[in-house]
This record gives sequence, C-alpha cells and structure tokens, in this order.
Amino acid sequence: MSTPFTQRPTRIVVDLDAIAANLRAIRAHAGVPVMPIVKANAYGHGLLPVARHLQAQGAERFGVAFVEEGIALREAGITVPILVLGGIFAPQVTQFLAHDLEITVSSLSKLRQVEATAEAMGRRAAIHLKIDTGMERIGVHSDSAGAFIEAAVRSRWCEVRGVYSHLACADDPASAMTALQLERFLEACGHFERLDAPMPVRHLANSGGILHFPETHLDMVRPGILLYGVLPDADARAEVAVRPALSLVSQVVYFKVVRAGCSVGYGATWTPGRDTRVITVPIGYGDGWPRALSSRGQVLIRGRRHRLVGRVCMDQFMVDIGGDSAFNEDAVVLVGEQDGEAIRVEEVAVAAGTIPYEILVQLNERIPREYRGGQAAG
Ligand SMILES: *Cc1c(COP(=O)(O)O)cnc(C)c1O
Repeated sequence: MSTPFTQRPTRIVVDLDAIAANLRAIRAHAGVPVMPIVKANAYGHGLLPVARHLQAQGAERFGVAFVEEGIALREAGITVPILVLGGIFAPQVTQFLAHDLEITVSSLSKLRQVEATAEAMGRRAAIHLKIDTGMERIGVHSDSAGAFIEAAVRSRWCEVRGVYSHLACADDPASAMTALQLERFLEACGHFERLDAPMPVRHLANSGGILHFPETHLDMVRPGILLYGVLPDADARAEVAVRPALSLVSQVVYFKVVRAGCSVGYGATWTPGRDTRVITVPIGYGDGWPRALSSRGQVLIRGRRHRLVGRVCMDQFMVDIGGDSAFNEDAVVLVGEQDGEAIRVEEVAVAAGTIPYEILVQLNERIPREYRGGQAAG
C-alpha cells in the first residue's frame, strides 16, 4: 500500500500466513463455513493485502461494515460474496447492486427501498435479514420478525441468502444473555418454516460466540478479532489455537540521562527520584498509539520490558530504561516478540483502559505496513 512514510523505522509487520492459519483453525473448530470479517482496514492489518491473501487461501466470502469497504474489495479483484454488515441508506442501494455486494436489510422500509432500486435496475438484490435479539442496534425485533420475513421471502426483487443477528455479551462465558439471544433468533428463524420457505444461512457468532458458545455456530460464523490472533478481551481463554499476526516495531531515536528531579514530557507528570537513562521512541498518539498509555505502557528493548514515562506525545514517547543500556537505532517492540519476551495487544488494551479492538483499529495510515508470508504483499 502506498504511504509517504515508508522510510519510517516505525512499522507494522503483518504475518499473512498467521491470518490464513487462524482462518483454518477457526473453520476446524467451528465445523461450519466462515465469514472472515475485514472491516476497519482488516482490524488495522490492511484491508486489501489481507483479503487478497485469504481469497487465494480459499476464503469463501467476506464481511465488511460499509459499502465503501465492499467496493474497495471488488476493485481490488475480490470475487467471492461480500456482505456489508452495516445499516444502509437508500441512495447507496445502486452501489450495492452495481458491485454485487450483499445487503443487510434491517427493516421493512429498507426492504422496500432495496426492492424499488432493484426493480428500477432490473437486477435482483442479494440480501441478509438482520434480526435484533438484544443488541438494540439495527435489525427487526425478533418478536415482530414474522411480517418482515414474510415480505422478504415473497419479494420478487430480493434473494434472501442469509438471516442473522449479533451477540451483545459473547465475550462473557457466564452471561445468560447469549442463550436468550440464541432462543429469540431461532424463534425468528422458525418463520421460514412456517412460510414453507427455504431456510437461508443462519449466522450469529462473532469471536466471543466462536470461543465460548458452540451452540451459536449454526450455519456460519463471523470471526473478526480472532482471525487476527487476538482474543476479545484479556480474560478470554484461547479455545482455538490462533496466533497474533500483527507486530508493531520502532527504533530508539534518542538516548539521554535525566537527572534526579528533572521532569519528563508535557505537563511535567513524571520526575525520576534519581539519575536515570531515558530513551525516545518516534511514534505517538498521532499514529494511533494511545495517549492513555502515558506512564503505564511498556515496550521491549534488548529483550527486556521497560515502562513509558511522562505523557505520550503526538509523535514520540519516552521510556525509562533505568540502568540498562540502549543505543540509537536499537529495535523497540511495542507489540510482538523480542528475544523470547512478548507484548500482546490484549495487554496493551488493559494498560490503556480499553479493548484490544480499539488498539488495533486506531493504528493509522501514518504507519507503513510490511507483509510477511503469502504472495499477496503490496
Ligand atoms: C464486527 C462484527 C463481527 C466480528 O466481531 P468480532 O468480535 O471481532 O469477532 C461479527 N458480526 C458483526 C455483525 C460485526 O459487526
């Protein structure tokens, strides 16, 4: 991918083979077809390189959030079915049909909008019906889904390929919410039988569902974060053998000794009690590295963990290495492994007071991405 920052020592390294292996592991675990979710720049890993590699490795379809992401995939030569998960606006329907993208239909009025455009274009729309079973985001409430499903299956201009819902609490194996959502979802799916209509593909499980609730796997699963080898939250157990695909590395750009009593960084929030060695790393919140890691996050230098000190700046942060030695251009690992030590995204998220998803997706285009494995790099 073109970026004006390719000379930066700071880079994201993506192991495409790890993502492909994770997809195989998820498929084997769930025992049903898989819809890899590649929204938000493939969770920060790079939409096109990831999708091209997975398609070459046999991915049967993709899921994205927005129509723009679906169009980008089509223009990059992705030919398998693509479902756009987000809610639609009427003027977008022509784009869905022109690019052969599957549409999430989440209400009766949106169904009518899709039908009208499909008829005008003389082209049938491929749709998945969205049922709300407890998320209260988009979708028809399961207890009033009968008329909606009936209108969809009777539609001349829509082909119902799927019916789905989204789990609100799948990260928590102890939550009773998931069982309730599954029950509501299956009840709504019962309308297809009542109408004597063919049952479309039923899908419900995100990564949490895949890991903790096998009964939610149904006809297809929709892994996002798990595909990239990251668990939905730090407490989750890895029931599927996946490995992280993303590393984030930089280099020491400056070394100094900070005297006892001299504060470091904006706001003078951290002051060493004794002389100490402090290095500077050229990446900051302007790259998506969270400011919340100020004086909390850790990095690896020469195989050892060291703590960020002072506030994370827009383009740089400082690290106290105590009595250890470090030199300009030494490798700094923010996420990934070095000499047998590792920092995982889940750990970074806890330190920043957020979830692993947010850490990954906010790593922005200012950081060049480098691809290992596969042939689809670039
Ligand atoms: C993002 C998303 C997923 C993937 O969620 P993960 O928790 O990352 O596995 C699945 N389904 C829908 C509808 C989504 O929006």
